[in-house]
Amino acid sequence: MYQVLIMRSLKLKYPFSLDNQSEPAYLKCAAPPSIAAGFTLRPGGFSCGPFASANMSFQVGDQEAAVAKNRRALLDGVGDDVFPALVTARQVHGNRCLTVTDRNPEKLAQLALTGADALLTNQPGVLLGVLTADCLPLIMIDAKQRVVAVVHVGWRGLEQAIGVETVTELGRRFAVEAETLQVYAGPAIGCCCFQVGVEVVDLFRRHSVLNGLEEWYRERTSGFYLDLLKIQRAQLMAVGVAEENFHIVDICTFCHDFCFSYRRDHAITGRQLAFVGLKEK
Ligand SMILES: [Zn+2]
Repeated sequence: MYQVLIMRSLKLKYPFSLDNQSEPAYLKCAAPPSIAAGFTLRPGGFSCGPFASANMSFQVGDQEAAVAKNRRALLDGVGDDVFPALVTARQVHGNRCLTVTDRNPEKLAQLALTGADALLTNQPGVLLGVLTADCLPLIMIDAKQRVVAVVHVGWRGLEQAIGVETVTELGRRFAVEAETLQVYAGPAIGCCCFQVGVEVVDLFRRHSVLNGLEEWYRERTSGFYLDLLKIQRAQLMAVGVAEENFHIVDICTFCHDFCFSYRRDHAITGRQLAFVGLKEK
């Protein structure tokens, strides 16, 4: 697997490492052993054509059987059968958070139809996921309170502060303190490649949290480029997330062919998965 070899050569820094014990391989986030968290990449799956190979989304035109096999392989690799299923929501580029408080399989299956871009849970045995191919995936962990969340952040969600909403909801529902929350930012399109219209930059100019922050966008001869990570970091710092607890893997999906990239692949492509779950103690 040449792509796995490339991934091995990545200079990953703590708290990220490559878990290549399982197929598909994924970027693992360091967390207590009772918590599984990571970001899948492109190699090591069963999908073909533009979805090759570890596409995790049923919504992009790939063969269902292949996606089911990819998800099953991940679940087997991650959890020694502790996670019966993966729970995702219908991502809508909004700022709605959904809290999973019930492990009833029928209720969990229904969540796939519910529009939300952040999923939270304190239930062991529930693996939460968001699907991305350029958008920024966030994983949030409070190991002490045993609460986890996963967030899908595109520029629209960022503009509506979905990450901040999630931190607020974690506090409201589970008394999680922002100061002790660990946040992991996965592979996403970087400021090197994320060209946007000036109207998008103008929307963010209204955000007071960006006042005084340097280079949250860049202007080049070819146009404007937005830095999702820098903006996300500023928003989360403003609500109390500690700088040392915001961990960035810093891999641009557009630049690396071991990631799916919606823009690079002209919209016909697969999705990688950001996942987090509590194992039974
Ligand atoms: Zn790039």
